[in-house]
Amino acid sequence: MSSYDFDLFVIGGGSGGTRCARISATHGARVGVAEERFWGGTCVNVGCVPKKLMVQAAEYGAWVEDARAFGWDATKAGFDWKGFVAAKDTEIDRLKAIYASMLQRAGAKTFEAHVRFLDPHTLDVGGKRMTAEHIVIATGSTPRRAAIPGAELAGITDDLFYLPERPARLAIIGGGYSAVEFAGIFAGLGTEVHLIYRQPLPLRGFDGDMRQAVAEALEAQGVIIHHGVLPTQITAEGEGRLVHLSDVTEIAVDYVVMTTGRVPNVDGLGLQASGVKLNASGAIAVDDGSHTNVPHIYAIGDVTDRLNLTPVAIAEGHALADTLFGHNPREASLHNVPTAVFSSPPMATVGLTEEEAALLGPMDIYVSRFSLLRHTLTGRQGRKTIMKLVVDQRSQKVLGAHMLGEDAAEIMQGIGIAVQMGATKQDFDRTIGIHPTSAEEFVTMRTRTRVAGIAEAAE
Ligand code: NDP
Repeated sequence: MSSYDFDLFVIGGGSGGTRCARISATHGARVGVAEERFWGGTCVNVGCVPKKLMVQAAEYGAWVEDARAFGWDATKAGFDWKGFVAAKDTEIDRLKAIYASMLQRAGAKTFEAHVRFLDPHTLDVGGKRMTAEHIVIATGSTPRRAAIPGAELAGITDDLFYLPERPARLAIIGGGYSAVEFAGIFAGLGTEVHLIYRQPLPLRGFDGDMRQAVAEALEAQGVIIHHGVLPTQITAEGEGRLVHLSDVTEIAVDYVVMTTGRVPNVDGLGLQASGVKLNASGAIAVDDGSHTNVPHIYAIGDVTDRLNLTPVAIAEGHALADTLFGHNPREASLHNVPTAVFSSPPMATVGLTEEEAALLGPMDIYVSRFSLLRHTLTGRQGRKTIMKLVVDQRSQKVLGAHMLGEDAAEIMQGIGIAVQMGATKQDFDRTIGIHPTSAEEFVTMRTRTRVAGIAEAAE
């Protein structure tokens, strides 16, 4: 047994830290783990979980309307924001408690405390000195406000989960995951939503067809899009806010939120005492095995600003625990990570976009657009499904799959396995579809839509 108080100390009880601590304890390590805000971190408290419940709350409104087309005498009488938030908070409290008890059951010692380094092996844990042979930094990230005059008059993503009232008019600044998701949520709940982003389309980095489809879906939901503009200032107007844009438009709303990215949580950790270095973007610099520049100190999840997704942080934490204490040295693979944006309908993707793949060589592009069977009865407009495969012309491997449509995230998880395994278009083609579903379209796209990449000019 080492002379340290712990074999491993994990700073941060979010998704990644909890997984790393729990698996290490299961492998027999003496583990301490500290959390200063809430067990489960961003995902459980102010991220994925409550966000998905809010997406569902918003979707029910449309389902009530659609039910009438199927013979139900359904009326939409209004939405009880306070009732919903209370129900959501009860569920989040339950989950939070599960996270803490899971750690304790695995044998980890939990601390509700702020932690800072005193030296590379010594930590101040809520005023008590503790030593550890290995230390993992898993402190996550915090939403960032764009630096414009009046920025303090805007809320951040976290605030949207606790608003006392549903705003009648809301401005969302940003065009990333959170901006798109909350625009859909609040529009679905009946709020007038202004979505303000600086690119021509939302979701920079995603496939171009999908970005276009997401913008169309938002507009079909009634979201008022202000694209290609920057917010220049926010001013107070009575109880409300005025957002001033670079095209000199002014938008009057009840609430403004900035969903303009996140910053890694490194302040207050005493990193100087640890010797751990940051990279140029202010995140903890790590290699593929989550090692920092200090041999016994590691970092996982958002604080490293690699792929800021909960399942990625979990994979990194698990791989590290197996490496350190499970006699199974391995690294989490960050290739072909499937992901979804919970717009309405959702958009999900795995692998390369058409734009990325086109740089590698000639690509066969298959695109299919159709309306759901359900909407032939509801007549609901703007709920088109779009599916897309990006296929390497030479090897016929499917390098990317993209979808916007109902259940896209559920469908993409399975498609992700195929892409990860290196499935070819012929593998997709010889798979028999499940009828009638949307998903079957992924195995029935026979006619190439176009060729992308360097062969395009030759065709
Ligand atoms: P993102 O990084 O996804 O998007 C930030 C947005 O803000 C971009 O549109 C960016 O524009 C814009 N922006 C940044 N700075 C400024 C500025 N100064 N002025 C105007 N616009 C600005 O941030 P999110 O907060 O939405 O999400 C953070 C991360 O959390 C995501 O990247 C994702 O990894 C994760 N997440 C995952 C979800 C999921 O899995 N469903 C849901 C929510 C978050 P530009 O593109 O031009 O830089």
